[in-house]
Amino acid sequence: MTTATREIPTPLPADSPVLAMRDELGMCNILLSALGGDGANMAAKLMFKVACTRWNLDGGYDARYGSEKKGTATDVSVRFCSVGTPVRQSGPTTNPHVLAVFHQSLIEPLQLWRGLRRGALCIVNSHHSPDVVRERMRLHSGTVVCVDATRIAAECGSRLNMPMAAVLCHQLGFPDHVFRNAIAKQWPNAAERNLGAFDRAIGEATRATFADDGRFAIEAGVVTRGPLGWRNMLNGGTIDALTHSTVGRDNRIAAGGRVPEFHAESCSNCGICLTVCSDPGGLLWREGRMTGIDDRFCKGCMRCVEACPETKKGHALTVPLGISE
Ligand code: SF4
Ligand code: SF4
Repeated sequence: MTTATREIPTPLPADSPVLAMRDELGMCNILLSALGGDGANMAAKLMFKVACTRWNLDGGYDARYGSEKKGTATDVSVRFCSVGTPVRQSGPTTNPHVLAVFHQSLIEPLQLWRGLRRGALCIVNSHHSPDVVRERMRLHSGTVVCVDATRIAAECGSRLNMPMAAVLCHQLGFPDHVFRNAIAKQWPNAAERNLGAFDRAIGEATRATFADDGRFAIEAGVVTRGPLGWRNMLNGGTIDALTHSTVGRDNRIAAGGRVPEFHAESCSNCGICLTVCSDPGGLLWREGRMTGIDDRFCKGCMRCVEACPETKKGHALTVPLGISE
């Protein structure tokens, strides 16, 4: 007979930013901005579970996925508070204390500086210095931590979420060994690769803190909430879930201008592209004929280019010039 052991929650280290950065409701608000397929949601869920079971924290969790296929801009909002604090908020946060940016290319189109609080902590996947990233982030004041997460993940055979989660948890003051153990337990087959990425990210991250020097103003957050919430929800507890949806979101961000070129004269209308497309909305069909690419939905994955058969007139779908697969 085996006896299950339950971990006893311990207080978080007193110098943890999670305890120092709170809003008027007692919450430390963390936002992860990523693309579908990065694993941001998975890593954040693990962080949330560990924090609530090991350090006696409580809080709320919200993730907006959009399309599950790789490429859609997604975000995860995590709120931490002390046990006993009423958790009254749901949905995405508009005023993060902590922001983790999985791709620099998301900063401008999503205006990620908007809503950042005074003294915010920004963790950015970048090979640039914190000084350069601070300018790009238009950060009023706070700390920028840069980590070349894409390179580290590739070199370690891991995923982008590992180096990003490592730096996030480390900067939040969560003891490294606890999160390392959780990763090894959660993904045992990839433990060596993931932990390699974890350690390298913490070791290679660069950090700088910036005072309010008048260079950038604090800008109001983009309001993504509907009018209904915990104060005025409808009978039956209904809240305005539609507001939290990504239906209608323009996915040009995800493709980043990288959509296939279509050559109608070479197309046989065989339909093979439709069978492989990661978002069939990216392919425009009219009356049984392929007519082009809709760049609002195309994720730029180039699967259709790979599958499109060569005809006597060549390939109907090709990679745009200047971009290699
Ligand atoms: S796979 Fe190529 S040839 Fe076939 S319908 Fe699509 S674009 Fe046309
Ligand atoms: S590149 Fe092709 S397969 Fe990929 S999303 Fe765009 S249209 Fe679909």
